[in-house]
Amino acid sequence: MSAPAEQRASTVRCPHCGKTNRVPAAAEGSPSCGHCHRPLPWITDAGDDDFTAVADHTSLPVLVDLWAPWCGPCRMVSPALEQLAGELAGRIKLVKVDVDRSPTVAQRFAVQAVPTLIVQRDGEVLARQPGAMPLPALRDWLHRALEAVPDQREEQT
Ligand SMILES: [Zn+2]
Repeated sequence: MSAPAEQRASTVRCPHCGKTNRVPAAAEGSPSCGHCHRPLPWITDAGDDDFTAVADHTSLPVLVDLWAPWCGPCRMVSPALEQLAGELAGRIKLVKVDVDRSPTVAQRFAVQAVPTLIVQRDGEVLARQPGAMPLPALRDWLHRALEAVPDQREEQT
């Protein structure tokens, strides 16, 4: 149906220098701009066939957005999550899962309502938020969840 996650890429405009970059859905490390080398927002879709490659086998903590096309609150929360993925570029990967098309992923997280938001690292759930929240509350929740993650980045000089 879809190409392997490593070959699936989206075009991302660097928020620092404005150059466009191709960012793969799954890759070693995390994406940075080919021009100015600063971290790029990492936002991708995943489904039953590639969730493991995209969200479990990745070096960054993952914010999973479990959404559905018919869900009004999901459409409200989606731009807020994309903004947070931009603010936390290089620290988090945003993975969006359409639960209607991905029943196995939905079952894995025992999704009972959408949106359901998950923060996970190496496949381990660190935080879970059922239901939408406004951006400031989402930001607080996400920062608290990430505080539980050891920061393995090296200091950049
Ligand atoms: Zn750049």
